[in-house]
Amino acid sequence: MSVPKLMQKCPFCLEPIIAGATRCKNCQADLSSAAKRQKTWFSQYDSFRVGFLTGLLFGLIVAILIYGHFYLTL
Ligand SMILES: [Zn+2]
Repeated sequence: MSVPKLMQKCPFCLEPIIAGATRCKNCQADLSSAAKRQKTWFSQYDSFRVGFLTGLLFGLIVAILIYGHFYLTL
């Protein structure tokens, strides 16, 4: 009987690997640094998304104000 291990996918070759492994047995990729990179990328993406949405909302308000101004003057 084999003990079921928690598996995850390698971010480089997408082969199933044991969760918590620091090196992929298939492509030899260093997964300890990859996990750190992935975390940083996600945090950067979150701040980018928040900034993008804030800019989009601000642009929409400005567009409404400009449109309202032209609508009232015409
Ligand atoms: Zn791999």
